[in-house]
Amino acid sequence: MSDFDMKQYVCEKYSVGEYVNSKIIPSVHYTGTNRVITMTKPIICPFHADTKPSFYYHYDEKYKKEKFKCFGCGLGGDVIDLHRFWSFKCGRKISFKQAVVELYYELQTGSR
Ligand SMILES: [Zn+2]
Repeated sequence: MSDFDMKQYVCEKYSVGEYVNSKIIPSVHYTGTNRVITMTKPIICPFHADTKPSFYYHYDEKYKKEKFKCFGCGLGGDVIDLHRFWSFKCGRKISFKQAVVELYYELQTGSR
């Protein structure tokens, strides 16, 4: 599988909502079917000192993948960006490529 295919695969199979729920805030409530998960309401951003919920995610029809956006600190992107930001927050600096490979591995092994 090429790097590009691997990236596409990860963005298609690994939803932002799932990532947030499994790694960042287990109690976050979301609704949805299939892989398109829509948050019912924004959450407190895990990346800045947030006082009112400003972290959203949504399915981007144009790019056919889920994206997130914080209207407080401005961070945003897809699940790969989220994995990089969250890893950095946890004290681990990883490259884009490494982020793709890690998420791909989680999907393959069902360890997410
Ligand atoms: Zn933020």
